Amino acid sequence: MQLTDSQFVCQGKVIGSANAKLRKTSVAIVGVGGTGSNAALLLAQLGTKQVTLIDPDVIETSNLGRQPLFTKSDIGKFKAETAVQKLKQHKNTLFIPTVNLLTEKNAAKLIANADIVLDCTDNYAARKAINSFCLRKKIPWIYCGAIRDKIMVSTIIPSKTPCFNCFAIKPTCEVSCCEEGIIPTATSIAAGIQVQEFVNLLGGKPKLAGKMLHMNLSTLTFSIFSLEKKCKDCKNRVK
Ligand SMILES: [Zn+2]
Repeated sequence: MQLTDSQFVCQGKVIGSANAKLRKTSVAIVGVGGTGSNAALLLAQLGTKQVTLIDPDVIETSNLGRQPLFTKSDIGKFKAETAVQKLKQHKNTLFIPTVNLLTEKNAAKLIANADIVLDCTDNYAARKAINSFCLRKKIPWIYCGAIRDKIMVSTIIPSKTPCFNCFAIKPTCEVSCCEEGIIPTATSIAAGIQVQEFVNLLGGKPKLAGKMLHMNLSTLTFSIFSLEKKCKDCKNRVK
């Protein structure tokens, strides 16, 4: 036990009380693509207690450039199961694979045990499902998007901050990362910011609660702006 704990001494000097909380926290990652596989690895390195990886897709050649857990021999295998196989040497974290697309109907079953949800999907309907389930169960979640050379991250705390419906615009057509273009630095840095915010949240000091971080990697510029409660549900909750 002592030996295991010594692995996390260095990070404890920086993250304080969040360090012990990591050992008691269960996370669900929705989407095990570029952002999700980087986030999963970071959660393992931090020593998070349990991580459920949810993704219905199989690994394709076009994924390999930005999804660090997968190599050519994994093509055709399920992302969630393969990621768990690759991460199982991180013995401090229990990884659970779930090969399924998160929907409004199955959200209760797939993410019921999560203390915090990390959104690493590019699927609008799956984000809507995370939002409504997390609002109902009062589970904080961290929205994260990466496309081309741009990143967006925001923390949603039910009953406190604006929710996904307050800022999300339904896309007229869903464009995949591959169609639109994406660079591996975008998914890697997006995951880094998202997991840092997860640690901030555990420590009781989230920096992106009710705020949106936008980052442009080509220009290395970023901005953080406040979000407003705009949707019907959030407005009613204020009254
Ligand atoms: Zn809202």
